[in-house]
Amino acid sequence: MNPKDLSSASALNLEHYWMPFTDNRRFKAKPKLVAAAKDMYYTTTEGKQVLDGLATLWCVNAGHGRPRIVEAIRKQAGELDFAASFSIGHPLAFRLAERIAGIAPKGMGHVFFTNSGSEAVDTALKMAIAYHRLRGEGTRTRFIGRERSYHGVNIAGISVGGVPANRKAYSGTLLPNVDYLRHTHGVAGNAFAKGQPPNGAELADELEQRLITLHDPSNIAAVIVDPVSASGGVLIPPRGYLERLREICTRHGILLIMDEVITGWGRLGKAFAAQVLGVEPDLITFAKGVTSGAVPLGGVMVKDSIYDTFVDAPGGGIQFFHGYTYSGHPLACAAGIATLDTYAEEGLLETPAALHDYFQQGIHAFKGLPHVVDCRNLGLIGAVELAPREGAPAARGFEVFERCWDKGVFVRPVGDALAFCPPLIAEKKHLDQMFGTVAEVLTTLP
Ligand code: PLP
Repeated sequence: MNPKDLSSASALNLEHYWMPFTDNRRFKAKPKLVAAAKDMYYTTTEGKQVLDGLATLWCVNAGHGRPRIVEAIRKQAGELDFAASFSIGHPLAFRLAERIAGIAPKGMGHVFFTNSGSEAVDTALKMAIAYHRLRGEGTRTRFIGRERSYHGVNIAGISVGGVPANRKAYSGTLLPNVDYLRHTHGVAGNAFAKGQPPNGAELADELEQRLITLHDPSNIAAVIVDPVSASGGVLIPPRGYLERLREICTRHGILLIMDEVITGWGRLGKAFAAQVLGVEPDLITFAKGVTSGAVPLGGVMVKDSIYDTFVDAPGGGIQFFHGYTYSGHPLACAAGIATLDTYAEEGLLETPAALHDYFQQGIHAFKGLPHVVDCRNLGLIGAVELAPREGAPAARGFEVFERCWDKGVFVRPVGDALAFCPPLIAEKKHLDQMFGTVAEVLTTLP
């Protein structure tokens, strides 16, 4: 593409756009602007190629600008731009729900659509409370979240989430009925573990021994966890930990919500983490990779028994007073179906073990490089953690991000952890470029 065709930073007025999760002043002083993207690469407004090492924001699993997806959106916009799903409908939402049910964990055959992961989380939490109420257990209104878990940015999501910076300003506004499991990171003997770390399953026991004992199970609606806490720093669940949470929830009639906004859609080697890890949640929240990021879409998959409890409730009328204007938007559904077609045709939901191995080797080759204090990975997600600079936590991570961008690779810092989450179409040469550039930057970094 000719850089002259692109709208360069110098020709733009950057003042008026309040950018999300961004140091606006720093960005506007030195903008990084993307004008186009194809497969594994962005083209910046200066015409430079930048490898997308994070599937943009953990979502572009099929890679950028994939023909089927692009064409489906284009066609759909001309055919049916919008129809809502409140008491009228359109075929695409039903088709996409059927396709998702076809690859969902067994018995999770019902799907509710939202527009984002944050909305999916709020929806799942509301479902949990309403479900218990319908079954005559209306005292179950309390949630259990976890430190360092990220569940989006809506009030409910930050209430059950455990990212301090996201909660700090809203401390007095968060939902009151929430308690927290400890996070699973930093357990002795787990540093530099390959795949699921060996120690820490017993951290799940505090759910029963501490929180359920304190609050009584009759008051607890659901436990929500992200199988890999990606935005919390790419924290990999210890072996046996999620299984134990499942057992405890089952024992006490508590719903288990797995937030698969990042771990879904092939990230760990199957459609969902639940399938890779052999744990059966009651609800799964999803977003991002369902359309490979091409159109905003999220949703909640539920066990059939949950759906049945709502729709078979006596009294008739609307069974769940909840929904978004754009739930099941035609463009999003068209993109979703085309994305699932692309995943199926290219076998992307089952990325080959050889690629996982190569990725793992690449992540763990950082051991011994300057500043590196941990390397961790699962499927095609991983992190290299750097020691923080004294008095300036996260500064070192951010500097690596900026230097790598200048050298044509996008990786994202979560504090001082460098996160890697490439599109699932990545080949060895892309991983070599991604890891090689970061390693080169680390060797010269103060
Ligand atoms: N849940 C998890 C596990 C996430 O990682 C994210 C976003 O990164 C969300 C929820 C929120 O999704 P969204 O940004 O689409 O609202």
